[in-house]
Amino acid sequence: MRHQLARGVWSAALGAALLAPVLLRLGSDEPGSLWMELSVLTGLLALSALVCTAVLPSRLRSLTSAFGIDGVLGVHRCLGVVVAILVLAHIAFVVASNPANVALLDTDAPASGRAGTAATLALGGLVALAVLRHRLRHRYEVWRWLHVALAGAVLVLSGLHVFWLNHLIQDLGMRTLFVLLAALALGVLAYRWAWRPAFGRGSEYLVREVRPENDTVSTVVLQARGGRHAVDSPSLEFAPGQFAWLRLDRSLAAQEHPFTMASGAHAGHSPEFTIRHSGDFTSTLRRLRPGSPVWLDGPHGSFTVDFRAATGLVMIAGGVGITPMMSMLRTLAHRGDRRPHRLIVVAGMVEELLFRAELAQLRRQLDLTVVEVLRRPLPGWSGFVGEVDARLLAAVLPGPFRRNQLDYFVCGPPALVDSVLAELTELAIPAPRVHCEQFDLV
Ligand SMILES: Cc1cc2nc3c(=O)[nH]c(=O)nc-3n(C[C@H](O)[C@H](O)[C@H](O)COP(=O)(O)OP(=O)(O)OC[C@H]3O[C@@H](n4cnc5c(N)ncnc54)[C@H](O)[C@@H]3O)c2cc1C
Repeated sequence: MRHQLARGVWSAALGAALLAPVLLRLGSDEPGSLWMELSVLTGLLALSALVCTAVLPSRLRSLTSAFGIDGVLGVHRCLGVVVAILVLAHIAFVVASNPANVALLDTDAPASGRAGTAATLALGGLVALAVLRHRLRHRYEVWRWLHVALAGAVLVLSGLHVFWLNHLIQDLGMRTLFVLLAALALGVLAYRWAWRPAFGRGSEYLVREVRPENDTVSTVVLQARGGRHAVDSPSLEFAPGQFAWLRLDRSLAAQEHPFTMASGAHAGHSPEFTIRHSGDFTSTLRRLRPGSPVWLDGPHGSFTVDFRAATGLVMIAGGVGITPMMSMLRTLAHRGDRRPHRLIVVAGMVEELLFRAELAQLRRQLDLTVVEVLRRPLPGWSGFVGEVDARLLAAVLPGPFRRNQLDYFVCGPPALVDSVLAELTELAIPAPRVHCEQFDLV
């Protein structure tokens, strides 16, 4: 219920921020040619969409909990494209209203024109960077800081464009609205980039142990700073399945990576992260010593059983995508949950199947069916082989009526998530019952 309310409130707030300048302009009786009016409306809409685009990925917990990180970033990307289209339309309408306005694109144009042109170029850079993102995979941090710098430049230059234009801000209502939009953007960005890293309560933890799970996966166990049962530093409160950004240094420039809390969400439990050492940062985590400090920014996300009511869960996990499922199952076992649950785990080889012993234990505590699927099994494997396809799902799921009452959680590499989502659509599982998380934000 609270989750639905939060979604409603955020949708209304974003809609209001997006449309307020345009509605105010439409309500005014300022005369102007059709092209001029269209140029103003597209410019205003581009500006408010730009502010919303910048605010969305600012890690506001109630926002990421309401829509999930994939949902928030999906809207962020869509709005980014909308801003680019609106800016192009704005320029076209400005020139259509008076062809001599093309001179505003020159380097010797007035300051407002130069700011607008520079903002458009920076926006073009952002779009190019977004398109090239997957080609620059191994340079994620460089990509991220370039993205942040260009986005900051677009915001500042767009603000200067409007301010130096000195036309719209003559109107008191519009001026007030611009101040509110600027305050919204500055407030949220200052909270994201300055206040929370510097003063965020309870964000510092100590490593208690790093436990190897297999050759490539370890579990990092944390404890609140101040001791195992510290009262001055609260332990992390989260819903099972949520994640946090983890840093090894307090500084803002330090690398931050998202990881799901794999531990149960019950009070007093130390937060644990089960991590596959796939790159430089995750390999560093494996070498952490007990007592090393780490900083968490979380919890975030809506990939959790706690925000919805279902008669049972079907969890489908690829590789280390089992972490949110473990958090949910551990928490449900602690709560004495009696509903029937199914867990389908996909791995390359049997050695890569995680938490097998604990899952056997959980099967005794919960009404849980575990189905293991291997992609490259050795001779002698008698379980499922290959993909999570219609044949496998038909063998694991109940009949059409009962399977539509279940909630489906899918997590893992993008290719697995996409193919499972396609199979669930094929089975006509209602879309609101299907939840997914990809371990890849970009
Ligand atoms: C919501 C979420 C939850 C996750 N939970 C887990 C988990 O429980 N266990 C686990 O092992 N992995 C998890 N991941 C994946 C994990 O964040 C990446 O594997 C890790 O960031 C890779 O960092 P690296 O430098 O070691 O590897 P690299 O080889 O440098 O990066 C591999 C890829 O990871 C992504 N990535 C890198 N840095 C970041 C960053 N700072 N922010 C976002 N994405 C980044 C990029 O797509 C990059 O191309 C999760 C990811 C997300 C989005």
